[in-house]
Amino acid sequence: MKFFSIVFTAGVALMATAAQGAPKPPQSVQLYVIDCGKLTVEDPARFNFKKEELKRLDFSVGCYFIAHPKGTLMWDSGVIPDSSFQAGGAPPTLQYAVSTKPLNQQLRAAGYSPKDVNYFALSHYHWDHIGNANQFAGANWLIRKVERDMMLAGTSDSRFPVHYNELKNSKFTLIDKDDYDVFGDGTVVIKFTPGHTPGHQVLYLKLAKTGPVIITGDLYHYPEELTVPRVPNNDVDKPGTLKSREKLQAFAKQTGAKLWIQHDLEAFEKLKKSPAFYE
Ligand SMILES: [Zn+2]
Repeated sequence: MKFFSIVFTAGVALMATAAQGAPKPPQSVQLYVIDCGKLTVEDPARFNFKKEELKRLDFSVGCYFIAHPKGTLMWDSGVIPDSSFQAGGAPPTLQYAVSTKPLNQQLRAAGYSPKDVNYFALSHYHWDHIGNANQFAGANWLIRKVERDMMLAGTSDSRFPVHYNELKNSKFTLIDKDDYDVFGDGTVVIKFTPGHTPGHQVLYLKLAKTGPVIITGDLYHYPEELTVPRVPNNDVDKPGTLKSREKLQAFAKQTGAKLWIQHDLEAFEKLKKSPAFYE
């Protein structure tokens, strides 16, 4: 009798794991870097740089998945929807973007699927950040009102609103303060850095082994902008960008946080990618 009860208990435990799907929550924050493709930049004039002033011209497109003991967050979603991939086909392209691996596949390599994502946040609404937003329409969307309003009204310059149109039905949380502590323990904090777009935000992560890191959206495009105060032509508030940079760099200095520029190809290439992770 005892034997059967042990088997029964084990069976229930197995079923529960299978139904739940996602891995057990980690003990501390884990950061998975996902390669969401590349943008070709022929001429950096629109960023107010000359070719010879920059080490690398092209952009990486980074997506980031965070597993916290209390839940999960997806930060940005790439440029090309996974649905553009065809079995055995060439890497899909869109305007000057190319993607070599579906986001979903890289998330699954870490053991998660889009339905395991509790929170979804965008650094901002531009086309190279919203590519797979529809996959995360089931998550709680963490967004500032100005940004959400523009996206849903079609007044943002997102280029492909069809890539995020399912977010209109998403559960959402309007962030109305500068710092938004996602899980309430100070380890995953969304920080307001307006300028590039009106509701632009960056992600501060306190990682136990790696140390603090800030994933900076498009507050910077090139690492050269860390020391040269130039901003892209399409920033909605150029002095705002400079002010946001100054504030964030002061915060980074104070906390010892490293700045990870999402489009910095050289730095991005060196990062370990999912299923490897930073913790
Ligand atoms: Zn961008």
